[in-house]
Amino acid sequence: EVRVRFCPSPTGTPHIGMVRTALYNWAHARHVGGKLIFRIEDTDAARDSEESYHQLLDAMRWLGIDWDEGVEVGGPDGPYRQSQRAEIYADVIERLKAAGHIYESYSTAEETAERHRAAGRDPQLGYDGFDRDLSEEQKAAFRAEGREPVWRLRMPDEDITFTDMVRGDITFRAGSTPDYVVVRANGTPLYTLVNPVDDALMRITHVLRGEDLLSSTPRQVALYRALMDIGVAERIPVFGHLPYVMGEGNKKLSKRDPESNLFLYRDQGFLPEGMVNYIALLGWGYSADQDIFTREQMVERFDAANVNPNPARVDIKKATAINADHMRMLAPEVFTERMVPYLQSAGVVSDPITPEQHALLVAATPLVQPRMNLLGEAPDMLRFLFVSDADLEIAEDATKKLGEDPVAVLDRAIAELEALDAASFVTATLEERLRSAIVEDMGIKPRLAFGPLRSAISGRRISPPLFESMELLGRDSSLARLRSFRE
Ligand code: GLU
Repeated sequence: EVRVRFCPSPTGTPHIGMVRTALYNWAHARHVGGKLIFRIEDTDAARDSEESYHQLLDAMRWLGIDWDEGVEVGGPDGPYRQSQRAEIYADVIERLKAAGHIYESYSTAEETAERHRAAGRDPQLGYDGFDRDLSEEQKAAFRAEGREPVWRLRMPDEDITFTDMVRGDITFRAGSTPDYVVVRANGTPLYTLVNPVDDALMRITHVLRGEDLLSSTPRQVALYRALMDIGVAERIPVFGHLPYVMGEGNKKLSKRDPESNLFLYRDQGFLPEGMVNYIALLGWGYSADQDIFTREQMVERFDAANVNPNPARVDIKKATAINADHMRMLAPEVFTERMVPYLQSAGVVSDPITPEQHALLVAATPLVQPRMNLLGEAPDMLRFLFVSDADLEIAEDATKKLGEDPVAVLDRAIAELEALDAASFVTATLEERLRSAIVEDMGIKPRLAFGPLRSAISGRRISPPLFESMELLGRDSSLARLRSFRE
């Protein structure tokens, strides 16, 4: 059985790189019918927060990335928060000590640098293995000085080679990775230990994670060998390192860059469907000639072997265009519901939405669904339908470039509309009457003919289609707005 995991540290708000890791692991699991395990690596009390943990859950649920075992859902290998697994680690540490895989080390960084200097080496070189074979007397002497040891993993004296799912064969030369610290002087384990220990205990078969972690992989492979030796691990998982994500200006995207913050996209009105599609494209493609795909299509084809090892680049324009396509793909009734929270937070409709507002929104949906790129555009597009005639605000630019004689156009329109009764106040009739009166009779170009009407009705230069909007507003309101704009 294929078992993959997503194991973020709960610091800060969810960012694009992290979400991509979650998405690829999920798609891999779903593609092969395996399991996704969601574990929280909260071993850094100073930086971890509950708020961040809840944001992670929120991000996963919003994007529709579900998991089979882990936080909230439970499973056979819990608990799934590292902060609750201290006893498990303590037991593994004792066994690693007993088998001699980790050893106590007293050297300070200064002492190590001094030894390098004395031997004519670069003092910046890492730990030199000095404490590997301390005698009991030497250890006792250090302890007598009041020193507390850290514990280091004994790295094998041979090359470490593994086949990366994304990058192919990778070899780290023997001696290139110093014996590294797995347990602090105060007895608490480091991330470098608990991450592989949990992967082993949770029987993870494939590790897909960011390229920034590639340099720690030889250490983890070495630790796995030790864990296999003491019967904690069954196997070394297959690794795959996902490419960096670059921001604008060709530099690595930082967690602090706004275009890396998942929730800023949501606030602007990106759909989860659009976000999944866009984030998937940061290193993977559905096919050479199809950029737009659904979650299900991604699952159908996703293969880590097809991940591009070269850096991916965020591109907000492209993200927006992809989102626009997904906006068109939604069923209209779903689209209506997706707009509601954005309209509520802008105060366009009430919370809860009233039945009248809802009915109007349903009727307006076909007017805006083909025209919006982001759900966040809904308030500006639709506000005019939900305000009273007296409260309609006319945007500054909607009073300009209205042609030579907008008053004549408005007068003629008013006269035409007054001649219609409420029952014939429908799009087709409105269009036919106004077109024949203003474009044909008065000889005004269509663009200029309807500009003043659009401004009067919606208060904006750009709005949903004019005649449909007038029908939705109705006769009285449309006439009132034309009259008041004329003044
Ligand atoms: N907790 C680690 C991180 O957030 C995960 C490392 C891994 O995937 O192995 O970077």
